[in-house]
Amino acid sequence: MKLEINNITKTYHNIKALDHFSVTLQEGIYGLLGPNGAGKSTLMNTICTLIKEDEGEILLDGNSILKHKKEFLNQLGYMPQYPQLYEDFTLEEYLYYIGALKNIEKSKLEKNIDYLLKEVGLKEVRNKKIKEFSGGMKQRAMLIQALLNDPKILILDEPTAGLDPKQRIKIRNLISKLGQNKIVLISTHVVSDVEFIAKKIILIKQGKCIACESPYHLQKSIQGHVEIVQIKEIEIDDIYNKNLISSLFYEGKQLYGRIVHNQECQIKGEQVFPSLEDVYLYHFGENNEDY
Ligand code: ADP
Repeated sequence: MKLEINNITKTYHNIKALDHFSVTLQEGIYGLLGPNGAGKSTLMNTICTLIKEDEGEILLDGNSILKHKKEFLNQLGYMPQYPQLYEDFTLEEYLYYIGALKNIEKSKLEKNIDYLLKEVGLKEVRNKKIKEFSGGMKQRAMLIQALLNDPKILILDEPTAGLDPKQRIKIRNLISKLGQNKIVLISTHVVSDVEFIAKKIILIKQGKCIACESPYHLQKSIQGHVEIVQIKEIEIDDIYNKNLISSLFYEGKQLYGRIVHNQECQIKGEQVFPSLEDVYLYHFGENNEDY
C-alpha cells in the first residue's frame, strides 16, 4: 500500500499553510513533527478530504483519493485534535452511533467494539456516560472510533494533547500495538510521542517537508552540532542569546549546558551524539519562540 502526497499547496489568504509538500507513505508509523502553525493539521485535513488542496494531488496506490473518495474513506480512520464526543451518550451508544455512520455491518461492528474496548482498557466503562470520563479516557474513546472500521490508513492529530505523562505513554503504546500493518500518521510537537514508535519522522516547516527519515538518520545528520559545555552562571543569558540550549544541568556545583549549534560553536565542549530533541531544536529552534 502506498499513499503519495504529491506537491500539495494550500493557501489561506496570503498564508501558505502547505507549500509544495510531498511525501510517500507506506505501512508503518510516521511521526509528523513541527511547531505550531507549521501546517500539520492542514496536511491531515487534506488527507482526510476535509479540505481541498489548491495544487497537487494525493494518490492511494496510484488512484486519486478525491476521485475515489468513498472507497478511500472506507479505508481511513481519523482522530481529530479535539475530542468530538457526545457527552450524554454512554461509550457503547456512541460507538454504535459512529459505527452506523460509517456503515459498518452490525456483527462486524459488535466484534470490533468488543475487541477495541478490551484493547484500550475501557471495557468496564462501556455503559458509563462519556461526560464522566477523564481526558485520557476520552482520548482512548476517540482512538477506538478511529479504528472501528479497521482502517488501512490511520490519521492521528495530536493524539496525546492535554494528557499527563502516564496517559501519554498509554496512548503511545496503544497506537504502536493497534497500528500494525497500517499506514499511521501521527502529528505532534512533542518529540517523545513519536521518538520510539515511528519508523520515520517527517519534519514540517512553514508548510514544507524538510525531511522524512528514520529517527536515527535524523540524529546522525546533525552529528557534530551538539556539545556539552561547562557554563558559568554569569554567562547563562549570553549563551542563551547566542546558542540553542536543549538542557541545563548541574553535576556537583558545576553547571553544564547541552548546546545545539548550526554554525561553528564558539564555546568548546564535549561532542555528544544528538537526540531527536536536539534535531527538533536544530531545525525549529532559531527565530521561533513557539518551539
Ligand atoms: P499546525 O497544525 O502545524 O499547528 P495548521 O495547519 O493548523 O498548523 O496551520 C498552518 C497555518 O495555516 C497557520 O499559519 C495557520 O494560522 C493557518 N491556517 C490554518 N487554518 C486556517 C484557516 N482556516 N484560515 C486561515 N488560516 C489558517
